Amino acid sequence: MTAQLIDGIALSKKIRFEVAQRAKALKEIGIQPGLAVILVGDNPASQVYVRNKVKACEESGIRSVMEKYDGSMTELALLERVAALNSDPAVHGILVQLPLPAHIDAHKVIEAISPEKDVDGFHVASAGALMVGQPGFWPCTPYGCMKMLDSISYPLKGKHAVVIGRSNIVGKPMALMLLQQSATVTICHSATPDLKAMTLQADVVVAAVGKINVLTADMVKPGAVVIDVGMNRNQDGKLCGDVDFESVRQVAGWITPVPGGVGPMTITMLLVNTLTAAERLGRAH
Ligand code: NAP
Repeated sequence: MTAQLIDGIALSKKIRFEVAQRAKALKEIGIQPGLAVILVGDNPASQVYVRNKVKACEESGIRSVMEKYDGSMTELALLERVAALNSDPAVHGILVQLPLPAHIDAHKVIEAISPEKDVDGFHVASAGALMVGQPGFWPCTPYGCMKMLDSISYPLKGKHAVVIGRSNIVGKPMALMLLQQSATVTICHSATPDLKAMTLQADVVVAAVGKINVLTADMVKPGAVVIDVGMNRNQDGKLCGDVDFESVRQVAGWITPVPGGVGPMTITMLLVNTLTAAERLGRAH
């Protein structure tokens, strides 16, 4: 068997087209959706991520404001900027690019963002809303994974999903989203004694670890759906995921590639969240 690809680039294109249509409809009633992106310091990877997010906004009709600050910015100054953006009616979404310099408490900064503008979905209020199934913003990466499953009309109800990784931004919210769709969910992490015993039972595996070849062909049930969130560099400096793609694609039923899988979907769901924020806030005014 050779797995079918779930193409994150093609799916992103389709969703971004819908985002652009929604942005146009908002503009017609006088609302220009706006995202503020704050970058502190000069982390090269963060600079690339932020540039890609700003570019994606522009292409979809979302106004984006990039605020770049020196790495010596104080926590207080950053909190004041967030407060100013919270009360700016032209800004519907606020994103503070992580990681922040060590002298700034990232949790404190995220909690300072108004939950109505928390388009990254990292605020405790957003996490709580997801937990209890109330409307809120879902973290973009697991949200993108759910859209990928949706794109193949995969019936999650009653299926066994195994999530490898338990971070607050990927693994845990991913597990909650799968649970919400009535999958039976197992969460694995670095203390899981026999990962293979778990993944071999899985109809869906989501790998969100950050280590090359965490999932190999002998660990996958034939026909399973494999979603690879990992972003790693191999010995040649090439971008690759957590999954041994070439071997696993011979066993799985569906698989996401890296690059061209979850990565583009993450940015796409940021656009979706920003549009949703603009629609909600626009309606409230
Ligand atoms: P993270 O915070 O470092 O979490 C990694 C998780 O993997 C932890 O829960 C850890 O367990 C677990 N883990 C580590 N080694 C393991 C092993 N051998 N077996 C099973 N579990 C193991 O990372 P993250 O932020 O969730 O990101 C995960 C990966 O996704 C990274 O490669 C990141 O770059 C990528 N990512 C990609 C996107 C995208 O847009 N494509 C977005 C976000 C993240 P413990 O909790 O026990 O330590």
